[in-house]
Amino acid sequence: ILELIKLHKRFGDHVVLEAVDLRIEPGELVCVIGPSGSGKSTMLRLCNQLERACGGQVIFDGQDLTSPLVSIDRVRRQIGMVFQQFNLYPHLRALGNVSLALKRVARLPRREAQAIALDALARVGMREHANAWPSTLSGGQQQRVAIARAIAMSPKIVLFDEPTSALDPTLVGSVLAVMRRLREEGMTMLVVTHEMQFARAVADRVVFMADGKVIEQGPPEQLFTTPRDPRTAAFIKGES
Ligand code: ATP
Ligand code: MG
Repeated sequence: ILELIKLHKRFGDHVVLEAVDLRIEPGELVCVIGPSGSGKSTMLRLCNQLERACGGQVIFDGQDLTSPLVSIDRVRRQIGMVFQQFNLYPHLRALGNVSLALKRVARLPRREAQAIALDALARVGMREHANAWPSTLSGGQQQRVAIARAIAMSPKIVLFDEPTSALDPTLVGSVLAVMRRLREEGMTMLVVTHEMQFARAVADRVVFMADGKVIEQGPPEQLFTTPRDPRTAAFIKGES
């Protein structure tokens, strides 16, 4: 459903991604791990073209997103994104945050948008907090609202950039549980994370990046127990 082909990205003369190839199949949960500065966030931002590539292709649902002919706004509706800092609108209640794009972008009538938004909130266990202001919710609850906002538009894939890194350790579990449930529902997900246990337990595939390159990838058990590259082994050892 999503394929990165020989993707290159530089900022000035600083090479951040070098010939990155990655393929995500429908229904897969792929975790990306790697040291700080290895280009993980940049790669995610290229997937929905928040950042433009310097070379290579991003094929989503059969379309090359790097082509100037593609209507990127239409494509972005089909790609959900969840950030480390939840980025909820503080002046909107949980329900308002989740229904906003349904009303403004998908142009659904108010009632229909609210029904879909309530359903999305229920899927992340936040239905009873629909009328809460973001500032009254815990970080974990805010992140679950942000996930509801991402899935409300029925995206074909959801990209997560370190969704639990800003959370108090006691709140991480509730967010990971929601992601685990989404995967069971068949959602396709690309997740940059430092949660090695989550990657190991839930991912279909783990990708290790360093210095702007995909160093190796494979099933979690293989990658965590018998990494092929010494850099992968050293990183895993340092994180666990
Ligand atoms: P982390 O684990 O710390 O989030 P990361 O793997 O997500 O790191 P990126 O944020 O993708 O890494 O950054 C990769 C490199 O690109 C870094 O050296 C960073 O300084 C650089 N970089 C990222 N965005 C920009 C930008 N807009 N302008 C210039 N350099 C940038
Ligand atoms: Mg990052």
